[in-house]
Amino acid sequence: MTAGTTRSARWPWISKEVQAFPVSPNLLDYETACSRFSWADARAALSGLPGGGLNIAYEAVDRHAAGPRANHPALRFIHADGSTHAISYAELSEQTNRFAAVLAQLGIGRGDRVFSLTGRGPELYVAVLGTLKNASVFCPLFSAFGPEPVRQRLQLGSGRALITTRALYRRKVKQIRDALPDLEHVLLTDADGDPEPGTLDLAALMSAAPSDSRMAGTRGEDMALLHFTSGTTGTPKGAIHVHEAVTAHYATGLYALDLHPDDIYWCTADPGWVTGTSYGVIAPLVHGITTIVDEEEMDADRWYRILAEQHVTVWYTAPTALRMLMKAGADRVAGHDLSALRFVASVGEPLNPEVVAWGQEAFGHPVHDNWWQTETGCIMIANFPAMDIRPGSMGRPLPGVEVALVVRDDNGKPVIRDGEPVLVTEPDTMGELALRAGWPSMFRGYLNEQERYRRCFAGGWYLTGDVAKRDHDGYYWFVGRGDDVIKSSGHLIGPFEVESSLMEHEAVAQAGVIGVPDPVAGEVVKAFVELRNGWEPSEELRLDIIGFARKRLGPAVAPRLIDFTTALPKTRSGKILRRLLKARELGLPEGDTSTVETPAEPR
Ligand code: ATP
Ligand code: MG
Repeated sequence: MTAGTTRSARWPWISKEVQAFPVSPNLLDYETACSRFSWADARAALSGLPGGGLNIAYEAVDRHAAGPRANHPALRFIHADGSTHAISYAELSEQTNRFAAVLAQLGIGRGDRVFSLTGRGPELYVAVLGTLKNASVFCPLFSAFGPEPVRQRLQLGSGRALITTRALYRRKVKQIRDALPDLEHVLLTDADGDPEPGTLDLAALMSAAPSDSRMAGTRGEDMALLHFTSGTTGTPKGAIHVHEAVTAHYATGLYALDLHPDDIYWCTADPGWVTGTSYGVIAPLVHGITTIVDEEEMDADRWYRILAEQHVTVWYTAPTALRMLMKAGADRVAGHDLSALRFVASVGEPLNPEVVAWGQEAFGHPVHDNWWQTETGCIMIANFPAMDIRPGSMGRPLPGVEVALVVRDDNGKPVIRDGEPVLVTEPDTMGELALRAGWPSMFRGYLNEQERYRRCFAGGWYLTGDVAKRDHDGYYWFVGRGDDVIKSSGHLIGPFEVESSLMEHEAVAQAGVIGVPDPVAGEVVKAFVELRNGWEPSEELRLDIIGFARKRLGPAVAPRLIDFTTALPKTRSGKILRRLLKARELGLPEGDTSTVETPAEPR
């Protein structure tokens, strides 16, 4: 079966021209794709369970294991020493069957929550998919979390089982177990025949478990995943996702990440964050392609080696990682053959135009920004491969996704009249980004916070909390989170615009911008600046950067104040924490700091 025939059968609206050239972009003509797309067609492109219903693990694993892709590598793990270990779709199917059987034997069933706190090893990926096969709900935790965030999430999510390692159990779980009466089973991935008291040996249970099919009958609306948000604006929320989300993972993998059958794909996000599950596990597997998993932490030389040696074709990463690579310098790429690379995309924070251009210089490809949230479950707005990138823009809505901007009042709240949000109609005008409810991977609730969930919707629109503009051609431009927008002498200033301008200065590696109270202007713009390697803070440099920003942004928008810092505060997922910069600046309480990044801990 050729890629062309597969796609023409599944996606009849893809032009003949594209079908004939397997590496042509899946989305060539944006308007045509949008006008012909329907979620029902996208759903019909999936198999569905043989007896009816839908299960993410079936679409991601079992249907490939039963077909021509059975022996195709599904996941290729890169160990610390650079050696690799691949698992085929058939092997993944067998292992996830065993994992589902282990859960069932322990009495973990439909709707029960299974958590993980472990590094990016095979056990984690088997646990995600095996849990879904068992009709249970999976909640991945980032392995660098300390005991308190682990406790909060397990408690809120009523976790019944936890997959972890001996070291993590000893350091982070043992002391909180008494506070977690629902947590019946802790399964150690590395017990080696000798589990800690009160824990089980996962490998031993797996090898004794039956390997025959364990696919539970689930429906599209059954809860599948629980993802906690990054906690950039406050205490993380638990977003509930259902099996139907797989329809959106498939369609966005096709269009926004341009996945093709022979791709070697690498998503650098940890499955502890929604990107690492939606696009590090589900979307690529549903497409039947090979996914690279690096078990180690980020390191510029290691990453370039992986891109080159693994012949990565599609790379999905984050602005924070790209800025770190940029800080390390483009010369680090030298000697690494990145010629297999076809498409580079990024998500999680605004992508500064400087980084888009740097990608072109360093990898020979500009970086394609896309926008989404834990709540949306999939990419909503993207720079598609066949479209010209407008550096600094998040791109255009995915086919099937309706986006609008809602007028904000003087307090920054969305204006709702008779239950309907008032929409911005003029181009280049700020408004709160809103999405027409109803796409398949929309969150179905905030765990234990239904009132908060309800408040996110008005007149059939989901209000995202982010502020953006739309230009004449329908491209969206991120301004900032609603709470981060600065009001200075009557101007509304988005921190992203200021940060991006500062990054154009040769000395600036990254910047975080906030508003600080001022008796005359209301607020003035203050920037915290991290310098590139080889630069030292000085009064002269401060004035030079201020002058530089004034020329680009004008005196009303340019920062009046600049502080140098060696490390901007970030969330564990790598996002700049402006709320913390502000709290520290104003001497206010720092709020929930459980998600704040601290120096790397051993796993
Ligand atoms: P919390 O909701 O707990 O404060 P969070 O919003 O950072 O945390 P996530 O769901 O991980 O949690 O992040 C989604 C947010 O990240 C978006 O709402 C947006 O503010 C930001 N974001 C993601 N992608 C982009 C992008 N391409 N450009 C600008 N901002 C982005
Ligand atoms: Mg959020």
